[in-house]
Amino acid sequence: MALDAGGVPAKGKLVVRNVGLMLSGDLDRPVLDADALVAVDGVITAIGRANELDTEGATSVIDAKGVTVLPGLVDSHVHPVFGDWTPRQSQLNWIDSFLHGGVTTMISAGEVHLPGRPKDIVGLKALAITAQRAFDAFRPGGVKVLAGAPVIEKGMEEHDFQELAQAGVTLLGEVGLGSVKAGEEAARMVAWARKHGIQSTIHTGGPSIPGSGLIDKDVVLEADADIIGHINGGHTSLPEGHVCELCERSSRAIEIVHNGNERIAIAAMRAARDLKQLHRVILGTDSPAGSGVQPLGILRMISLLAGIGGLPAELAVCLATGNTARIRNLKGGLIEPGRSADLVFMDRAQHTAGRTILESIELGDIPGIGMVVIDGIVRAGRSRNTPPAEKVPELVS
Ligand SMILES: [Zn+2]
Repeated sequence: MALDAGGVPAKGKLVVRNVGLMLSGDLDRPVLDADALVAVDGVITAIGRANELDTEGATSVIDAKGVTVLPGLVDSHVHPVFGDWTPRQSQLNWIDSFLHGGVTTMISAGEVHLPGRPKDIVGLKALAITAQRAFDAFRPGGVKVLAGAPVIEKGMEEHDFQELAQAGVTLLGEVGLGSVKAGEEAARMVAWARKHGIQSTIHTGGPSIPGSGLIDKDVVLEADADIIGHINGGHTSLPEGHVCELCERSSRAIEIVHNGNERIAIAAMRAARDLKQLHRVILGTDSPAGSGVQPLGILRMISLLAGIGGLPAELAVCLATGNTARIRNLKGGLIEPGRSADLVFMDRAQHTAGRTILESIELGDIPGIGMVVIDGIVRAGRSRNTPPAEKVPELVS
């Protein structure tokens, strides 16, 4: 096993040892008493102390050199098009750049930036199915991109959702980006989607770019989509009181994004925390967007919520990993047996004022990434995008 460019999980046994700090991604138990991990054929099989685990017969060994290991980060809100290209800011290799920001899974909130995107019902279904197939077969940098998220339009009937589901579509793009903007109409389509196993997200707040529109709190509540998409606006937020009301009155997932209002990002996190419902909070970038394409967006969200929001860093990590994994039914996102071996190796950045990695995040700094593993395969070494990590792990065999 080595630096493989393919999309299939590793074959064989991976042993990770000398882990300084193991973060699970699970809010209920964010720090594990472990310094080693074993994965077989790309799936985690054991976590614990190296002297207690069966580490014999490894085909691959990573010496973590005392750094922190956590689940691969999940970006719950991206707008991919095709391949590793986005027309939004004319960028190539943006997904590979996110890999260097620790992101191992991305979830499409709609392939809305495709030039000439079809808006008729046959066309939007065809695009969704094509995008799902294309990203299933091609992982830029090894990153898992769950795409094929149609933007619903007026006139769709239940059979359209049934056909999409049968064709392998599991997501809706942001409700409200198409012609369906009324609460009652959105609610009907969201319910059809849910009935056929398709998860939905709604655009929340003011228009993102000229041509898109406002979705207010009453429409969000009535539509009842599975994810309150960018609750802190994308970029223009609803008033803070309305955002807190959404957290209180809805039981759906609370998605906070990088390309939204940062003040309201913190308010939404605190509202969920005060309700003792932090498990509902998930993080995304909502990029590519007018505000850019941010490879470190998820890390920056973690530092924002910890550094300014006051959330302990090990809990902030859970919002970008385990929470999203559970709400999105992902195979990775948690360090536990049976999960994909999607791992990020981080250390405190060189010259941070924080004495530990967690303290550095709580001071608002971004950690340094030293290695990223997806499905048991090393996909990146020292990140080209984060500040340099003090220590980096080594693939020793
Ligand atoms: Zn949006």
